[in-house]
Amino acid sequence: MPAEAATQQLLLPETQAVYCDVALPVPLDVIFTYEAGELEPIVGGRVVVPFGKGAEKKLSGIVTRVHHEPPETRKLKRVLQVLDTLPVLDENLLALGRWIAQYYLAPIGEVYRTMLPLQAEFRQAFGYRITELGAEALYDSANEGSSRRSQKTPEHQMSEYAVLDALADEELVREERLRTATGATREVLRTLLQKKWIVREDLSGVRDARRLVKVVVRREAAVDAPAQKLNAAQQRILDLLRDSQGRMPLEELREAGTSPSSLKTLVKHDLVEIVEEAAGQAAPQMKPRTTLEFLFTARQQEALRQIRGSVEERRFQVALLHGVTGSGKTAVYLAAMQSVLAAGRGSILLVPEIGLTPGVAADLYNIFGEEIAILHSSLSDAERAEQWHRIRRGEARIAVGTRSAIFAPVHDLALIIVDEEHDNSYKQEETPRYHGRDVAVMRAKALNATVVLGSATPSLESFHNAGRGKYALIELPDRVQERPLPEVELVDMRAEFQQTGKESVLSRRLIEETTASLDRGEQAMILLNRRGYSAWVMCRSCGDTIQCRDCAVAMTFHKRQRRLLCHYCGFQQPVPKSCPKCGSEYVQFMGTGSEKLEDMLHTAFPRARIGRMDRDTVRGHDDFERMLSAFQAGEIDLLVGTQMIAKGHDVHGVTLVGVVGADSALGLPDFRAAERTFQLLTQVAGRAGRGEMLGKVVLQTLFPEHYAVQFAAHHDYHGFAEKELRFRGWMHYPPFDALANVVLRSDKQEEALRYTGLLGRWFEQVRHEGVRVMGPAAAPIARLKKDYRFHFVLKAGSRERLNLLLCAMLTTAQQHKIPRTNIIVDVDAMSLS
Ligand SMILES: [Zn+2]
Ligand SMILES: [Zn+2]
Repeated sequence: MPAEAATQQLLLPETQAVYCDVALPVPLDVIFTYEAGELEPIVGGRVVVPFGKGAEKKLSGIVTRVHHEPPETRKLKRVLQVLDTLPVLDENLLALGRWIAQYYLAPIGEVYRTMLPLQAEFRQAFGYRITELGAEALYDSANEGSSRRSQKTPEHQMSEYAVLDALADEELVREERLRTATGATREVLRTLLQKKWIVREDLSGVRDARRLVKVVVRREAAVDAPAQKLNAAQQRILDLLRDSQGRMPLEELREAGTSPSSLKTLVKHDLVEIVEEAAGQAAPQMKPRTTLEFLFTARQQEALRQIRGSVEERRFQVALLHGVTGSGKTAVYLAAMQSVLAAGRGSILLVPEIGLTPGVAADLYNIFGEEIAILHSSLSDAERAEQWHRIRRGEARIAVGTRSAIFAPVHDLALIIVDEEHDNSYKQEETPRYHGRDVAVMRAKALNATVVLGSATPSLESFHNAGRGKYALIELPDRVQERPLPEVELVDMRAEFQQTGKESVLSRRLIEETTASLDRGEQAMILLNRRGYSAWVMCRSCGDTIQCRDCAVAMTFHKRQRRLLCHYCGFQQPVPKSCPKCGSEYVQFMGTGSEKLEDMLHTAFPRARIGRMDRDTVRGHDDFERMLSAFQAGEIDLLVGTQMIAKGHDVHGVTLVGVVGADSALGLPDFRAAERTFQLLTQVAGRAGRGEMLGKVVLQTLFPEHYAVQFAAHHDYHGFAEKELRFRGWMHYPPFDALANVVLRSDKQEEALRYTGLLGRWFEQVRHEGVRVMGPAAAPIARLKKDYRFHFVLKAGSRERLNLLLCAMLTTAQQHKIPRTNIIVDVDAMSLS
């Protein structure tokens, strides 16, 4: 217990009861008060409390206040358990959480849950596994033939097989993910449990729910145990242990074909022991720290000098580091982090999702060794929690990770770097809908720390802030070693169609250039920002497009999986032979995705080694690393993929970048379309010519005159930003006006309409000077994950006014009994869909 709380208690009569306010991870804008009883909760620590009517549910939450004021309301429930003796959120992080809750209108308990990667220790959750019985049932049904199954099997049974199917390849699947992927109801899961085809596991585990594995460890006595006393089987176990530094997971030992009874004998004689350890604890191979020696350009040195100066002055400052692709921003980050570490202080480096390249990760480990904690996407919850504890204990003074790493409890935080600050993955698309970059700025402000926002294509928000002096602007206008930016050739695909008389995916110019590049033994990349084989499936007879069962979205055909897939909710279905609506057999596959492009390239360049990078081939950080390493090592000649291939990597052999249909967004009514297109084109073009050889970009477009395409082709960020900012100003869009998207949703259409009508009438009656309210209208994605959706878009010159109106709206919604989960409030929305 901290000293302060202890003295408080001494001053009070012993009989006085202690209460604590707790923020619980529930979708309610309320703080709950509990009686502490004999327990000693601390502010910023976690407690377990009963929750709900019958109080049979247990939740853990964060204590926000400990006091002696009995609330007037009914009898209070008692805290069941105190989990922490030290705060897991310090004062600064608690305050940051309050700011997020207020600014983004999110329930505080849900904010705190997001800030702590201790989910494994935090909330009631279940996971499912398939049993052997279940695997047999699945096997039998598959043998009966899928055609028979689909004709004769009732729907609930289909749904059961879908669950088994989803569990078959994986060890343990969380309930939420399982139900989204298969659409299974709770009833279906119950039936499966009764049949013993699946088992359920409680993942909430109030205590640290790490997965434990059994490890066999050799004991001292075994090292020189006289060999004659042991039989061959026992000796073999000891030999295996000796060869692996005296310890080996039990499973591996069994796989090596050792005898369980011999192992038992060894345990009995104290020659080995079996211990339990957290899985996946093996730390990455840390090399000793090396000093970083960069050959900096004058511009890089100047950038570094400014950043260091601001850190040393302990003054809150945000610097926008605008450096063209290949200008060496990463080296500046690393050198800045190194000097922070040398001063004994801490830093955070934020990277976009799937953005940390193998090269940079290796550099980080080489330079910082044990001082670094990398929180990447392929960590399990338990591993993530372990890294978090390392940071909090002060063992790691540098945290590197995606969006939520901004909450890492780094000691004496001096510097926060947001790499590729324009990247959309910094905005969380679920409650709390915070923007990692903006939270970084708020966190730094409270700590008098320095923020560096780096990008070749800064967001207009950040560029605007630099323009009006709020942020410092540091420019790196040249590539390192005086390498030129690649030449960009535009190919007008409308003219291509007129000249060739056919709709082609690859233009003649792109084929020519790719052939030439491959003939020279160089590498090429081709971007097509759409995954899958065919973008949609259409019936030629009735003109209907096959849509997702649960979303108003066309299903995409994935050839290798032989399935139609919804890219919004993950729902899958077999490919129909006839139109589900009219029965016609003329179903046609339309549009081209990256999977089809890969096939086309195999035909066009039969000798090339081709790799594909999209969400189907790259599931996580490990896949990304593997693929990039292969490309880097020259094992792939031609890399095709979605925007994933445009992300910040540095492969020197690439001399050609082809862009196939990356500008389709320009045809959509989205005010950020031009900015996104410009960013994507500039980033992907920036992958060419980063080595000794010159780079070239062939950009196929349907909008050759569009300014986003033109400025990207001329590598003119400033030209683009100025023109786009003028447009945003006229239209009262961000960064000039603040914007919020309010979505009302329900799986019952009448209900969604009723909620929308209620709020629509309220907006008409209430005074909202200075805030424009547009709508209600059907949301661009009118149905998503079974929910019908309507929305309002709010724009305001003043953030305070916008915030006040949104707060009043939520109060009204509560009075009208609109459940909080049926209203999405997205402040600074990146997309209005
Ligand atoms: Zn049809
Ligand atoms: Zn869907």
